[in-house]
Amino acid sequence: MIDIFESTAQLRPDAVFFSYVDRRGNETAYTYRQVRLMASQLARRLRDKGVFPGDMVAVDLPNCPMYVFLALAAAYGGFGLVALNHRLSDAEKLTRLLELERAGVRVAYTVDEAGEPKLFEAVTNSLLRDERAGRVDDSLGGSVEDAIHFAERAAHIFDSGQRALIMFTSGTTGKPKAAELTWNNLIEASKASNRVLSGRVRGRGLWQAVLPFFHVGGFQVIVRSVCSRWPLRLYERFDAKTVLRDAEVMHASHISVVDKMLQDMLNVRPGALAQYECILLGGGPLNAKTVARALEVKARLFASYGMTETSSQVANSPITAQFTGGMRLLPGYSARIVEPDSQGFGRLALRGPGVFGGYANARAAFTVDGYFLTGDTAALHEGCLYVRERTSDMFISGGENVYPAEIADALVRIPGVADAYVFGLPDARWGRRPAAVVELTPDAPLISTRRLRDTLARRLSKLYVPEQISIVDELPRTGIGKIDRAACEALFSQNINIKRVVL
Ligand code: ATP
Ligand code: MG
Repeated sequence: MIDIFESTAQLRPDAVFFSYVDRRGNETAYTYRQVRLMASQLARRLRDKGVFPGDMVAVDLPNCPMYVFLALAAAYGGFGLVALNHRLSDAEKLTRLLELERAGVRVAYTVDEAGEPKLFEAVTNSLLRDERAGRVDDSLGGSVEDAIHFAERAAHIFDSGQRALIMFTSGTTGKPKAAELTWNNLIEASKASNRVLSGRVRGRGLWQAVLPFFHVGGFQVIVRSVCSRWPLRLYERFDAKTVLRDAEVMHASHISVVDKMLQDMLNVRPGALAQYECILLGGGPLNAKTVARALEVKARLFASYGMTETSSQVANSPITAQFTGGMRLLPGYSARIVEPDSQGFGRLALRGPGVFGGYANARAAFTVDGYFLTGDTAALHEGCLYVRERTSDMFISGGENVYPAEIADALVRIPGVADAYVFGLPDARWGRRPAAVVELTPDAPLISTRRLRDTLARRLSKLYVPEQISIVDELPRTGIGKIDRAACEALFSQNINIKRVVL
């Protein structure tokens, strides 16, 4: 990636590579020349401090310029980054780093939001604080000529087979796993996406980076921008109004979001969504209601499927009114369905350029004939992937298979329901019975759980109608906006936080 970045920096040094909007709305732009200087000086400085190729540097930051500098510095310096969820507590971060250490990963140090070294041996310095403040100081890390020489040499010896990133999975099904990704994984996955997503953009598009960089879907936006030579606009925090106003003013072409973000955007400025050439929507099953609202305002939505272990998306599809859920695999990827049922659904196994080498902190990844065995159930028809849900979500009730995602989808299609989570609650007679947590749309009249059940009973078999339904003002969500399943399930055992329950 550094070779691509270097060639762009040499070709168009004064073009803006990225701009940054902080939480107060202040904006700073960085040219290729500045970014190149910052990143190569940072890499040199860290080398002086003992960070060598193969070492790992933990990043404990919100989305900010420093994150982009560090991503490029890592490529210049041959080291890798450990992307920490900066919203975790110090104890949680420490646990994750210690776990990596026990697994033999040398984490040189970590920096916090203010650029201060934390938790681990402090080898960083005030340089980081200055950079976080957005100042570009040419005197740091030796002369400008030194830095340029370093950058040019680094581009020649760049080893894309090296570990670039340790990224934690979202922890939806248990303890987050630390997926190890190489530069090759990140770059080739990005190129494959770019090929499919460039759409009708002639010349240069613009990516808005709004997902957290400690999530693979967020980090890959940086790499996609480098690979496509498109500028990037990042935000300290996601604010739907600011992002959409910017999209119109700057003619943003691409953005990657999760359902909750798209809902927020639809609530504040729906008309602006037609501006984008591509709105990538992923991270979980599609919400039928959000999709319908977005299509009404002529948003060009793309369903996206992927995971941390595959360096973000492996399949996508434009969503039109005729969309039936099939997503085409990106070039270079192949899929297999392990032990398919009569309808062709089985455990999905994947191979392709973005597929990781293994976990640093967990058991070995399962593979089948060189294919990575995912935890998702899917079918494959004519090169298109139909993802049903996580394999472990399916449960048996009275001897029958129950697919909670289908129940959640049916719930979301009921007027007044914004989102739903369904799971199998232990039941003495049936083994398990479906239970649901339901979020209503803000303007919805009060709906009784009995009415929800009656509506479902007209559409689904009796087995699929949840015995218990909790209606909440807002579904609990994780940092990236995925439904917090443990918190939802706790509602039933602890009977807390349930609001607006009408029996
Ligand atoms: P963990 O692996 O720690 O349990 P996680 O799987 O949620 O957490 P991620 O790598 O962030 O961690 O998420 C990838 C998963 O999200 C996929 O394996 C899949 O289950 C789900 N997912 C992503 N995109 C889609 C989609 N378009 N449709 C359905 N599910 C999706
Ligand atoms: Mg997973």
